[in-house]
Amino acid sequence: MSKRLRNLGELAEAAGLKVAGMAPAEPETALLPRLQRRTEEGRVTPFEERDPAVRLAPERLLPGCRSIVVIGLPHNSPESHLLPEGPGPRGKVARCALGPDYHLLLKTRAERLLELIEKELSGALRGRVLVDRSPLVERELARLAGLGMIGENCTLINPDCGSYLALGTILLDQKLEPDSPLVESCLRCGRCREACPTGALLEPYLIDPHRCLSYITQAPGIVPAAVRPLLGNLLYGCDRCQEVCPQNRHLEGAPAETASPEGYALLPAQPLLLPLLRMTRKEFARTVGPTAAGWRGKSILQRNAVIALGNSGDGSAVPALAEIVEKDPRPLLRLHAAWALGRLGGRQARRCLEKQLHREEERAVSEELRAALERCVP
Ligand code: SF4
Repeated sequence: MSKRLRNLGELAEAAGLKVAGMAPAEPETALLPRLQRRTEEGRVTPFEERDPAVRLAPERLLPGCRSIVVIGLPHNSPESHLLPEGPGPRGKVARCALGPDYHLLLKTRAERLLELIEKELSGALRGRVLVDRSPLVERELARLAGLGMIGENCTLINPDCGSYLALGTILLDQKLEPDSPLVESCLRCGRCREACPTGALLEPYLIDPHRCLSYITQAPGIVPAAVRPLLGNLLYGCDRCQEVCPQNRHLEGAPAETASPEGYALLPAQPLLLPLLRMTRKEFARTVGPTAAGWRGKSILQRNAVIALGNSGDGSAVPALAEIVEKDPRPLLRLHAAWALGRLGGRQARRCLEKQLHREEERAVSEELRAALERCVP
């Protein structure tokens, strides 16, 4: 016999969570073949659990797990409020990284909700909060808990918050009556798949994460040369398949849900690119560090800024890129800056590439310098 936690919505609201539902903890065995195929076809990133069986086994994370509360926190900061003043090329930051790191907010609120559920059930209850890097198939659990529908773009779409929603779970060792999935479904308009520049949405409901620009902005190392032009001005994350989704249209201009208490974003939605190249460790820690993009570190953000400058077509970026090629101690930055100079072209860019080719000691950077010189139109 399962109990019903009638007031889950009220408890969640008291904990600062707008979205919550109950999912069953029985493993969704129907998902296993899909997850296995995903692993076999290499559609798993290093950020995810590779073993499909583990993804469906909450019991391994909380022995005796019998129910799962799924929670959601919107991160729909409107871009229009977040434009810094000043001339020059700009980058773009995904909405999830504009306010304080939602993982921390979600964790604190989930712990508060667990305390409230414990009080409500007034009995011995064991629970475990999981946010960020949970091996469980959170999106499917959210669907089962009635929080939304799965879109063709593989996001969970909530009727109120759209797809700009961070998910987390609370595992419980008591059997509680689950909610029912929604009857609504994705409109299947295909706009998300058309909008993706890399074709990462291989078919409806099937994504190749290695082609996803959001993943590429976060992955360490060298960005493949063929992908760099497709990144455009992205600095962290990508919202393209969500921005075109009609199910998110009602959110345009909605107030920010996770913006800082002072009401402004820590990281502007469209930061000026050149200042990012000169950013000190302290400035990074103050502006980007407290956001969801902070974990990735300064070098990856600057690598993406260098690519964005290469894509900007703005010749005013050449001196700053040339300085990186000549002086930056990080080969990763020198390599991408060489590419960016080759793409922007011009006499100063060409002179810098020629000069550095005789001095560069890293093989990968030398190869990039040669390739950039071939492309560089004086
Ligand atoms: S853009 Fe259309 S097909 Fe894609 S998730 Fe939104 S409603 Fe579904």
